[in-house]
Amino acid sequence: MRQKPSLFTLVLWIALAGCAVGIVLLAPGALDAYGDLTLEQNATPTPTADIRSVLLVTVDPANTPAPTAQVLKPGVKGDEVTRMQTKLKELGYYTGEVDGQYGQGTAQAVKLFQAQQGLTADGLAGTDTLTALYGGAAQTYIPTPSPSPTPSMLSKGDQGDAVRSLQQRLKDLGYYAGSVDGDYGGGTQEAVRLFQSQNDLEVDGVCGSATMAAVFASNAPPVTVTPTPDPASLPILVNRDHPVSVDYKPDDLVLLRNALPASLVYVKGSEIEGDKTAVAALQEMFEAAQADGITGFQISAGYRSYAYQEELFNKQVAAYLEDGRTKSSAISATRQTVADPGTSEHHTGLAFDITVADTIFKGTKQQIWLHKNCWDYGFIVRYQEGKEAITGFVAEAWHIRYVGVTHSTVMRDRNWCLEEYLEAMGGAV
Ligand SMILES: [Zn+2]
Repeated sequence: MRQKPSLFTLVLWIALAGCAVGIVLLAPGALDAYGDLTLEQNATPTPTADIRSVLLVTVDPANTPAPTAQVLKPGVKGDEVTRMQTKLKELGYYTGEVDGQYGQGTAQAVKLFQAQQGLTADGLAGTDTLTALYGGAAQTYIPTPSPSPTPSMLSKGDQGDAVRSLQQRLKDLGYYAGSVDGDYGGGTQEAVRLFQSQNDLEVDGVCGSATMAAVFASNAPPVTVTPTPDPASLPILVNRDHPVSVDYKPDDLVLLRNALPASLVYVKGSEIEGDKTAVAALQEMFEAAQADGITGFQISAGYRSYAYQEELFNKQVAAYLEDGRTKSSAISATRQTVADPGTSEHHTGLAFDITVADTIFKGTKQQIWLHKNCWDYGFIVRYQEGKEAITGFVAEAWHIRYVGVTHSTVMRDRNWCLEEYLEAMGGAV
């Protein structure tokens, strides 16, 4: 007959069994071994659950051997998962239920932990991850701030908080003087252009990714204030309200065919004259165009005398009268395309019509180059689209006017026509 085990023997047996289970659980491939263990336990009268609870109580994390090659991953269930979830929750990475089931929430928490620890964020808890997790250097979860909702591009017509913060930033840096109203209008566009011109960016008034990054860079430079030019040095204004007198004639007129090499630019008429300084600037500009591979320009108009403009004007009026118009109708129709004598910029010797032979100039590569670069040589595109109400002329892609580089670059950067520039500078307009 078998002897009944004493209480001492029973406790000893449970302790030994516990150690055996512990070794198996912590051994490599513990979860695979767990199936075998379950079979063994089924062969014994001792309830499995009790043994495991003894184990859980007796395992001291501080004395835990280094985690094994066991990889915990989605789909795995068990106490090691419970333990991991508990630790991840304690550190703030895991917000789900501690249920011992390695689901997507657990995988996500593992990824967060791995990313913060500088480990490969694959959501699989292998040796490195578990070592880091249970080691003393495990960091608590630091949430990364969600990216600001700033769009990558802002332009005229946009509205909202992103525009408001752009305006505020430009205002803080001194580029913008208007109100911070979240409305990307002409003033904001002008401020963006000014910022772009002073920071070596493409000047287009659109706050694209490069401009956005530069504006919000911590070292973005404040505005450089350009000194207001001496009123006496401001460019001459000739328009309908400011005609030149009948006997006006500029000094220093030169014949363009004498001054400009034929290999550089074709001068359409042998009599075309221009201001000496302006013609020197033309030469410099066309040399730069040639260096950029843009050739084929022709100059079709320069200085015009008052008498010549009068002749042009009267010829056009006569043509309209022949069409059967009344005199006043013929004159107003002529004014659409021909300046009244005295009101043409060509009287100054500083204005030139630049074209390409036998081609509509607008849209040519020459026109695009000219409009982009003429400012750097002291010229302005005098009659621009959108400025008709101020200049009193329909847009002319071909007509450029020499004002000198100190003025032309400011007009480009601020998108000011000559009238706007002179008004801003305190000149007579
Ligand atoms: Zn012209």
